[in-house]
Amino acid sequence: MQATNHYSLPVPKAALQGIDRSSSPAHTGKLKHAVDLVVPYDTPVLAAADGTVTFVRDDSEKGGPSIAFWYDSNFIVIQHPNMEYSRYDHLATRSAMVKPGQQVKTGQQIARVGTTGFTLLPHLHFQVFVFTGSNVWTDFETLPIKTF
Ligand SMILES: [Zn+2]
Repeated sequence: MQATNHYSLPVPKAALQGIDRSSSPAHTGKLKHAVDLVVPYDTPVLAAADGTVTFVRDDSEKGGPSIAFWYDSNFIVIQHPNMEYSRYDHLATRSAMVKPGQQVKTGQQIARVGTTGFTLLPHLHFQVFVFTGSNVWTDFETLPIKTF
């Protein structure tokens, strides 16, 4: 299944140093279509499409190059009108600028890039997905998105 919404780059283009689809050992199985956008720490994170915020976590202060930090990622999830979702991970601590239930527009800043969770260097983990159940950590399938 291909993503049907149009998704824009979730970081300012000038800040983008690279798109990494291979370095993370975590991008397998249901995370197959996730991408890592390499950008400096504190880079603004932008909504990739219009939608409604459904999850916000930004209270974690932990992260590093170990899978032990997997569940320590600060992240935001946005639901789009066609029931696809976008997820933004490794956000800086207490950087969220939106709340669950809030409507956002494409390009609107929602947080800042950090290093919470399992991450080797500052980057934004971005994925477009559909739910296959109700657990945001386990019940989803990522969708292929067009190269930005
Ligand atoms: Zn990633």
